[in-house]
Amino acid sequence: MEDYIVRAAAANTQIRAFAAVTTNLVEEARKRHGTSPVATAALGRLLTGGVMMGSMMKNATDMLTIQIKCSGPIRGLTVTADSQGNVKGYVHDPEVILPPKNGKLDVGGALGQGVMTVIKDMGLKEPYSGQTILQTGEIAEDLTYYFATSEQVPSSVGLGVLMEKNNTVRCAGGFIVQVMPFIEDEVLNKLEQNIRNIQSVTSMLDNGHTPEEMLAQVLEGLDLEITDTMPARFYCNCSKERIEKAIISIGKKDIRSMIDDGEDIEVKCHFCNTAYHYTVDELKELLKKSR
Ligand SMILES: [Zn+2]
Repeated sequence: MEDYIVRAAAANTQIRAFAAVTTNLVEEARKRHGTSPVATAALGRLLTGGVMMGSMMKNATDMLTIQIKCSGPIRGLTVTADSQGNVKGYVHDPEVILPPKNGKLDVGGALGQGVMTVIKDMGLKEPYSGQTILQTGEIAEDLTYYFATSEQVPSSVGLGVLMEKNNTVRCAGGFIVQVMPFIEDEVLNKLEQNIRNIQSVTSMLDNGHTPEEMLAQVLEGLDLEITDTMPARFYCNCSKERIEKAIISIGKKDIRSMIDDGEDIEVKCHFCNTAYHYTVDELKELLKKSR
């Protein structure tokens, strides 16, 4: 199955919903960063939440970033998505290994305590930014809490990443369901009842459910209407020129010391791990451009 996002409404627009299958893009992230199973699960959940949240934004140039800083061994995660289904991200320690908890990857243990910051750059002078404390570190609950407290939108978030025995990604995906302020009590009751009774996201995906079928379960009996679908992918817009700007910005002193070392340097993009090489002569050119 190709990765894609579904946008939907239910109960005559009293509910809006998003669902995605992200198996390929999470596997792409795993390969690029060489993440351990628990790091793959953490990053995969955040990439899945991020790509759906990106798709909530209106303009093609809008960018959404979710940053987690935490005290657990993974230390932090960053995911950036646009509104077109493109997402990229990384974790601070990709090699973290923890014993399983209740037979599952211990994502909450990898994150520990911390803070989640959501930044939406919509081309305005100041980007929107909302910060919340991590609730469980399992990411879905943390995003639910973010929506409730920072955006005041009651939501239910389900995210799942299931690994193969050989530590590649077997399946990944999730959903976000949000209720509008004018929701009727009986609609809300029905939705809450559905959410109590659904299977986990990983079992739905593992049973071959599409995003549409996941939403059909979550919104069973609530007049689900699929509004549109769009492809999702791991995509990084880095280039040698963009990385050059980052080198220039570190300042003359540091560039000079790299030149004095007399060796070519390699700089890797945080987001996609692509390596860029600069010769001493190229560094000398960058020195001229720096302040
Ligand atoms: Zn990159």
